Amino acid sequence: MKALYVHVPFCDHICAYCDFMRCGYYEPLAEKWLLAVKREIQEKKIEECKTVYIGGGTPSSLSTSLLEQLLELLQPYLKKSDEASIEVNADSFSDEKLALCKRYGINRISMGAQTFQTDLLKIIDRKADYATVKDAIMRIHEHGIHDISLDLMYGLPSQTMKMWLDDLSKAASLPITHLSLYALTIEEHSRFGRVGIQPCDPDKEADFYEKAIAYLQKQGFEHYEISNFAKNGCYAKHNLMYWHYEDFYGIGCGASGKSDHMRYDNTRNLHTYLTKGACPNRYLLNRKDEMFETVMMGLRLRKGIHKQTFYQCFKSDIHDIYRDAIQKHIQLGNLQETANELRTTYQGMLILHDILIDFL
Ligand code: SF4
Repeated sequence: MKALYVHVPFCDHICAYCDFMRCGYYEPLAEKWLLAVKREIQEKKIEECKTVYIGGGTPSSLSTSLLEQLLELLQPYLKKSDEASIEVNADSFSDEKLALCKRYGINRISMGAQTFQTDLLKIIDRKADYATVKDAIMRIHEHGIHDISLDLMYGLPSQTMKMWLDDLSKAASLPITHLSLYALTIEEHSRFGRVGIQPCDPDKEADFYEKAIAYLQKQGFEHYEISNFAKNGCYAKHNLMYWHYEDFYGIGCGASGKSDHMRYDNTRNLHTYLTKGACPNRYLLNRKDEMFETVMMGLRLRKGIHKQTFYQCFKSDIHDIYRDAIQKHIQLGNLQETANELRTTYQGMLILHDILIDFL
């Protein structure tokens, strides 16, 4: 069974660092977009899915009526999935929308917070402060959804370690099950990129990351993936499908998918999507690509790559393919091996990008 990702390209307002496929919310446009999504779902003949993720953009920016229509369209998949997630912003997730999500089988909420510092929220141009996020989380629990993930960012302009630790402490004090931490990247076409904001110093960025790992582990969060932390085994099952290199459907303008040794990227042009459909660019993945991507995704996980699964997929022992890279990084203390898995050490997680170069 595959995963299903649906991309909602609308946001209430545009954050200063953002370069995703998104645009300001405009109801008549969103109505046309929904019709195009319906067509794409019919064309792709989507079967039962293990996980569903409605992301964006900001799915909660849809009006209550359009959100209901989208959930109705996805109902056959939502109800049968193991995990059905939706991304929301605290300031646009009303009780009506929350009740709809619950009714249609959403069982996991992923909320962008990014920071709780008033000054930093102004810099990145986001509105929901700590009180708003906390209120939304409490309301989500009251509606019977208890799997809640928060996103935080580090390396923001003028962010200090004191601010970062305060954000982490506030997040850890909330009744959430999962945290995702992202380093700010300056994207050329974001507002930050256009006005020449400089990226965070790499040493400072590494310091933010290492402090977060140490702090969150003390708070009972398991560091199970390079950027992700879970309480009580509440891993992001949809993302695990990506990290385990499973196939997935991508629906919507700007969405990507992978199926039968083929990756596809739907058009990022909303006008094209509305008038001509997904118009995907397709790339055939050869065996070498797939082996490398399996390693690239698998080494993100603390559990690492399951060697027998690798063998079953490619009919080759992972050592026969990557002997030199594996030996080198085991000797350097960046990788370790158990009877069943090959995984990154804590030290290796900090330099995964460099390790992967040796697997190319
Ligand atoms: S970061 Fe998220 S909420 Fe902000 S503009 Fe981008 S997609 Fe929208």
